[in-house]
Amino acid sequence: MGFKAMKYRLFPNVTQEKALDSTLYLCRTLYNAALEERRTAYRKCGVSVSFYEQKRALTEIKADSPEYKGIHSQVLQDVIERLDKAFKGFFRRVKVKQTAGYPRFKGRFHYDSFTYPQAGKTGAMPLPESGKVYLSKIGNVRCKYHRPLEGTVKTATVKREGNKWFIVFVCEVDTGPLPATGDVVGIDLGTNPNFLITSDGEFVEAPRHFKKAERKIGLLQRSAAKKKRGSRRQKELKRQIASEHRRVANRRRDFHHKTARALVNRHDAVFHEDLNIIGLARSRTAKGMLDAGWASFINILSVKAANAGRTVLGVDPKYTSQDCSDCGHRQKVKIGHAYVCANCGMDCHRDVNAAINILNRGRDAAFSEGANVVPVDLRSLAL
Ligand SMILES: [Zn+2]
Repeated sequence: MGFKAMKYRLFPNVTQEKALDSTLYLCRTLYNAALEERRTAYRKCGVSVSFYEQKRALTEIKADSPEYKGIHSQVLQDVIERLDKAFKGFFRRVKVKQTAGYPRFKGRFHYDSFTYPQAGKTGAMPLPESGKVYLSKIGNVRCKYHRPLEGTVKTATVKREGNKWFIVFVCEVDTGPLPATGDVVGIDLGTNPNFLITSDGEFVEAPRHFKKAERKIGLLQRSAAKKKRGSRRQKELKRQIASEHRRVANRRRDFHHKTARALVNRHDAVFHEDLNIIGLARSRTAKGMLDAGWASFINILSVKAANAGRTVLGVDPKYTSQDCSDCGHRQKVKIGHAYVCANCGMDCHRDVNAAINILNRGRDAAFSEGANVVPVDLRSLAL
């Protein structure tokens, strides 16, 4: 069994589009309010508000603000869950002393989807025979099924991209395992310009256009800041910024899918550095920029591996750059320098040596108890 995300264009009528817009608006308001609540509670009393407390509070919110009655209750629960996920990521980063990045309030252009977490059972239902999708509280929305829906629907995420609407169904599909290749690999999450380096000595470069797009976004943001607040010009610039962000995100995801696909096709097992243990051990600041993408890359890799009956495993990344992969001697090696072992004379690219260490640790761990297999996050497949 595996999971697959399938995306289709929606064509809501005027009334439905209003309902979709208002759902997005209310979800965003709820997200920001729940975030505000957590911040205040923490600042004023040093207490943290839990996911369950906030989930329970939804009943009161509905009683106080009748407009929320127009939204399926699980869609609202999913909003709280998204915030919880943002906090979990934040605490994870704090734990490993990365630049933490407290969860942020979402502006109009930064909250563009909502999810029915039990679609197929309740809330949302594909109706391919009639070319429609049933969305609770919104209606039967026209949908173009340009390719057949496969498997059992698990979740449905409705997204706004510019003026267009889409629905992404994440389905459980029957995928046969890929035939074994007899090959395993370790990957070192790379330093710019490399996205990753494999124990076979392969270098996968991060696409260059990210940098270019980021510069463009910077330019647009600066000129938007100079325009009059709320003016038509500024709105137009903000729309452009949002669409540029979307383009970068889409390309990054494509790149992640392609890279993960290649690794999974060629290897029975892929071992990587455990993101939950990665600290400031290596010059993480240099890696900072690419960092945001790693967690989602590892997730995509894990999904593809699970679909194909392959193994993906995180290992302790400590000293992977310092240990000699031949004799185990430990020494410091500067970034950009080759690893030349003072003990046995082995001479190898620094990051390839690290990838080989990751491979060796993975091999050991894969056969021990409690191997750290990364859990799969269905929502991140749709976003
Ligand atoms: Zn050595």
